[in-house]
Amino acid sequence: MAVTEHSLQALRTAGLADVDPEIAGLLGKELARQRSQVELIASENFTWPSILEAVGSVATNKYAEGYPGKRYYGGCEVVDEIETIAIERAKRLFGAEHANVQPNAGSATNMTVYMAMLQPGDPILALRLDHGGHLTHGHRVNFSGKLYDVKHYGVSRETMRVDYDEVLALAKEHRPKMIVCGGSAYPRTVEAHRFREIADEVGALLLCDMAHFSGLVAAGEHPSPVPHCDFVTSTTHKTLAGPRSGFVLCREEYAAAIDKTVFPGLQGGPLMHAIAAKAACFGIAMTQAFRDYQRQVRANADALAAGLIANGREVLTGGTDTHLVQVDLRNARWTGKDAEERLEQVNMTANRNTVPFDERPPTVASGVRLGTPAMTMRGFGTEDFTEVAAIIADLLSEEGGDVAALAGRTDALLAKHPLYPGFQGWPTYVTTG
Ligand SMILES: *Cc1c(COP(=O)(O)O)cnc(C)c1O
Repeated sequence: MAVTEHSLQALRTAGLADVDPEIAGLLGKELARQRSQVELIASENFTWPSILEAVGSVATNKYAEGYPGKRYYGGCEVVDEIETIAIERAKRLFGAEHANVQPNAGSATNMTVYMAMLQPGDPILALRLDHGGHLTHGHRVNFSGKLYDVKHYGVSRETMRVDYDEVLALAKEHRPKMIVCGGSAYPRTVEAHRFREIADEVGALLLCDMAHFSGLVAAGEHPSPVPHCDFVTSTTHKTLAGPRSGFVLCREEYAAAIDKTVFPGLQGGPLMHAIAAKAACFGIAMTQAFRDYQRQVRANADALAAGLIANGREVLTGGTDTHLVQVDLRNARWTGKDAEERLEQVNMTANRNTVPFDERPPTVASGVRLGTPAMTMRGFGTEDFTEVAAIIADLLSEEGGDVAALAGRTDALLAKHPLYPGFQGWPTYVTTG
């Protein structure tokens, strides 16, 4: 299928469904898919319709290399206002001295901090990927592992939590220039104040990557790392529920180095439509409704963990302090890969994940990571998550449960809480499903 032939005149005003029915159809299909599954991927969310509108806006047309008031292009007076509002809101929301809202993604935020403060070969200490860290925290396949001399700390075998004595011992041994805390699959509180003590003891800079839990921080549901860290990085599309993007917070003394590294160091023109959406996202995150949402994200994660345990499944650390739960399948009949596939059969989406000290390779893994942000956005409450837990527990039991019956129960939950109800007119590709 090709793009439909239009006259130049018609193309100037036609919508996507008219111009490119193939892509419009696939976007409609993607909306239908999102509506028809219980989304448990902990890093995903369903952003607000207002954010979709900003992302789809004319700000995408504007080149604005530089920063508000200091651009390399004319016509920036309006986008200057937009970016200034985004910066001021980010600072106010998180109590930060400086914010850079231009990074295009979470990975770019970490690249920014490393490039601003370190030389290639400099030592970093960060959480291992297979203990809940992130690729950009020094994994060997990632730029961070190739450019820097990264040593990793892990979690304790007994508690499955970060062992701060071990972190201190490793810090004394390796003398890192930067310590990184935070991760993508760590269900417990990141105790930034304890990392601060360790960083101070060895004279290291401290970076907290709150990509996963920044929404909880914004709402006061997780202690803020900002007062304790030199740098805090985050995405905006995970718990923060905004557009797919990132931002960096730092102390004033590092502001110039961070800004210079983002532009002209790493990026060209900022995505002004994404920055407009980030401004709206930070604004929403200051409201009572957002705090209510995050409180529910937390309550739902507790209900999910408790429900799994009550039904005989194992959960890493015995619960969660955040939005995510790691199901531990080391003693189960099913591997992480089995679990991911079985969940799909009952219309639930999640991802397999290694658990610390996993004896299976990452492609198979002995865990599944589950998160509550997306379904809480859809309106799920604790009773719904107790039912989700019961379905998953049965599905991952020794006998495996009755898959068709369990899928029926999932569909009943979905029918109770429609996604983007009545959302038909915007964007224009939303025509079916
Ligand atoms: C998701 C995530 C990132 C990367 O974000 P992208 O937008 O996917 O580049 C970085 N760090 C952590 C801890 C994350 O969870």
